[in-house]
Amino acid sequence: MPTTCVIGLLWGDEGKGKIIDLLAGEADWVVRYGGGHNAGHTLVRDGERLVLHLVPSAILREGVRNVIGNGVVVDPFHLRDEIAGLRRRGVVVELGRNLLVAEGAHVILPVHRALDGLSERMRGDAKLGTTGRGIGPAYADRASRAGVRVGDLIRPARLDAALQRLLAEKNAILVACGAEPLDPARLRDELLELGRSLRPAIADVGSLLRDARRRGERILCEGAQGVLLDVDHGTYPFVTSSSASSGGVAVGTGLPPQSLERVVGVVKAYATRVGAGPFPTELDGAFAHRLREAGREYGSTTGRPRRVGWFDAVAARYAAELSGTTEIVMTNLDVLRGMGPLRVARAYQIHGDPRAERVQFPLFDLDDVRPVFEEHQGFDEDLSGMRRWSELPAAARRYVEAVEARLGVPIRTVSVGPGRDQVIRRDSAIPHAPAERLRPAQGSSE
Ligand code: GDP
Repeated sequence: MPTTCVIGLLWGDEGKGKIIDLLAGEADWVVRYGGGHNAGHTLVRDGERLVLHLVPSAILREGVRNVIGNGVVVDPFHLRDEIAGLRRRGVVVELGRNLLVAEGAHVILPVHRALDGLSERMRGDAKLGTTGRGIGPAYADRASRAGVRVGDLIRPARLDAALQRLLAEKNAILVACGAEPLDPARLRDELLELGRSLRPAIADVGSLLRDARRRGERILCEGAQGVLLDVDHGTYPFVTSSSASSGGVAVGTGLPPQSLERVVGVVKAYATRVGAGPFPTELDGAFAHRLREAGREYGSTTGRPRRVGWFDAVAARYAAELSGTTEIVMTNLDVLRGMGPLRVARAYQIHGDPRAERVQFPLFDLDDVRPVFEEHQGFDEDLSGMRRWSELPAAARRYVEAVEARLGVPIRTVSVGPGRDQVIRRDSAIPHAPAERLRPAQGSSE
């Protein structure tokens, strides 16, 4: 397997967890490169749902090294509890062996959680809809060079200096807002204790990964959220605070940018979004409810009902281009059973003007667009037991082909249920994605 990255192409929750879990069977390393414990991959093991927030998805795979990269913000209290929870359910987590944490990753402290809540409250109606876990404020402190890093948790003198830097400012804010200031001594003791318990996992993972790559080991990078939530390229300000697109791989792992050879973009057969922000193809009313129920569209981390809508080919094509997606996985095709006729946004109309259609995704003015839909015949068959492309009803195949044609990137895999085996591989009419075409063929003399 070439160095591969799996990303969601829209707003997250595309079912990346399952796809990463599948690909992890061929990987030696699985690496998270961004986001925090607001991400949540759901894996299904022997019919049992296992939700992971910070620990990479290959934790169930024997022989794979799971890495939390430096681009992730780590709440060490949460990480300790997540590891304990996994162990209680019989998952083997051995720090330093199958789980590693980058010493350069930034730490989410209780004060970041407090500030997350405060700033959401202060925004009133302009709330971002964050999960309130302190992720944004921790990234903000990383950028303003006030952060605490995982490596500080095992270096008491450095931790003291970092906490002094951070708490002088944060306690002043908390007090001004009428909240309790933090007790530096208590926090220091707690963090050092967490550092002791996580110590075997804390490593310079960037250099480990570069060495692994030199040895030809197989590295799979796991995206959190989706491309449209990327801090630079997404629907700002309704985005995460990190580089959710494939561009985040180099930043968040320490691997050189050119190491990424394959980008697997995951889309659902329809669209969903959690939290606030523009969503051109959003549905409401009874039909939206039916789709939400059929797809069990409730946040795996927060339980919040997800907003649902038709597939947005304008947004997905933008995300695929931006991230250099070389192949696509379409999940949840089974959920569209009985939902026909099926619609796909092929363009946007701007300011309601039918003459002004565009197929480029706008970074600004997304609130002023109206999707222009094409319609496809629906299907009523249960797809969940089907394993071959030829078994799928013709209407379902045509739907996948229509989306593929709009995106210009091959849809190589279609998923028809939550289980690991509920996938259908297919040969695409589009043989090579542009990024693949640019590379010399294997064994070529170039
Ligand atoms: P992620 O963050 O992208 O991994 O998305 P989630 O963890 O929220 O996964 C979405 C949900 O869809 C999970 O409950 C999966 O088990 C489930 N799922 C994944 N693929 C399929 C599929 O093809 N069909 C159905 N019905 N459910 C799926």
